[in-house]
Amino acid sequence: NQQILLVSRPQGEATLDNFRLVETETPPLRDGQVLVRHHYLSLDPYMRGRMNEGKSYAAPQPLNEVMIGGTVGQVEASRHPRYAPGDWVVGMGGWQLYSVVDAHQPGALRKVDVTRIPPSHYLGAVGMPGVTAWYGLVKILEPKAGQTITVSAAAGAVGSAVGVLAKQRGCRVVGIAGGPEKCAYVRDELGFDDCVDYRQHPDLRSLAAALKAACPDGIDGHFENVGGAVLDAVMLRAHAFARVALCGMIAGYDGQPLPMLNPSLILINRMRIEGFIVSEHMEVWPQALAELGELVASGRFRPRETVAQGLAAAPQAFLGLLKGRNFGKQLVKLVD
Ligand code: NDP
Repeated sequence: NQQILLVSRPQGEATLDNFRLVETETPPLRDGQVLVRHHYLSLDPYMRGRMNEGKSYAAPQPLNEVMIGGTVGQVEASRHPRYAPGDWVVGMGGWQLYSVVDAHQPGALRKVDVTRIPPSHYLGAVGMPGVTAWYGLVKILEPKAGQTITVSAAAGAVGSAVGVLAKQRGCRVVGIAGGPEKCAYVRDELGFDDCVDYRQHPDLRSLAAALKAACPDGIDGHFENVGGAVLDAVMLRAHAFARVALCGMIAGYDGQPLPMLNPSLILINRMRIEGFIVSEHMEVWPQALAELGELVASGRFRPRETVAQGLAAAPQAFLGLLKGRNFGKQLVKLVD
């Protein structure tokens, strides 16, 4: 087996030195265990938070252990009656080629059908990021047909799903993304009504003006993935009683200071801003995955992916994700 361990904690920005690739032996299976060969590893922004010591909603990743991460792969060997070699499964296998899983533990493995949906999408649109989009949109923004919904990091794994789900509900959907290529994808392939390229609008006034042009009727609900100036600009365009689903603040994960949100706008607009963590809402996963799976299987949602090749490429690809270099869901392919 090959594994990538976290060997030190970042001082400021994460670096390649924080990770180490090691070769290990896979232990023999005990009763109830399954050996999974990972085909894809998911790279996600939350991993940066786990690299830090200190208080958060989840415990830090221990040093000198395999980096945490979602995986999709095939059962190679099984000593559990529900799993047979060849089965496709999603789990938290971590940054390694193989994992040994105690399959009786609730939620340890989920069997998936790869006949209609390619396996990698179970780590993105039909997996944790998709459910994140679904929860924030459906449960927090509660969109109604005709309303305007905005979403930042719109070309990303979560943002793209937010837009597609909101279009399904008859909303006007406006994305915010970095660069003309991402904006073209958001508009032309995902079917958003418009997309604002925030890189063209480095100051708040110009960004707010671009949002005004894209959202002539104001903003009813905003899904926030980035934090910082975009959120301030949205607040300037928000309707009275608008809602914000606060999903992520990736602009600050790698130690950068975030510009302060102006709280007086919350009062003036009588807004409701609500943060959430998708893993605390397991009750919505089946419903959300059913809707997302149907959208992807029917071709109405074509999620984009950025795929790094081979386990050794994972740290570099992860650092790229933290810099916004990914386009769509960031994955690592582990099997040729
Ligand atoms: P994405 O695929 O959206 O990738 C991150 C994107 O963020 C980049 O591609 C980049 O797109 C954008 N971005 C904007 N500003 C920055 C910046 N300063 N640094 C880096 N990236 C930036 O990732 P995900 O879809 O996986 O996650 C999106 C957000 O959702 C994250 O904040 C994540 O933490 C959060 N999340 C929260 C969950 C929860 O339970 N609350 C669960 C899952 C994800 P662009 O070029 O367009 O700027």
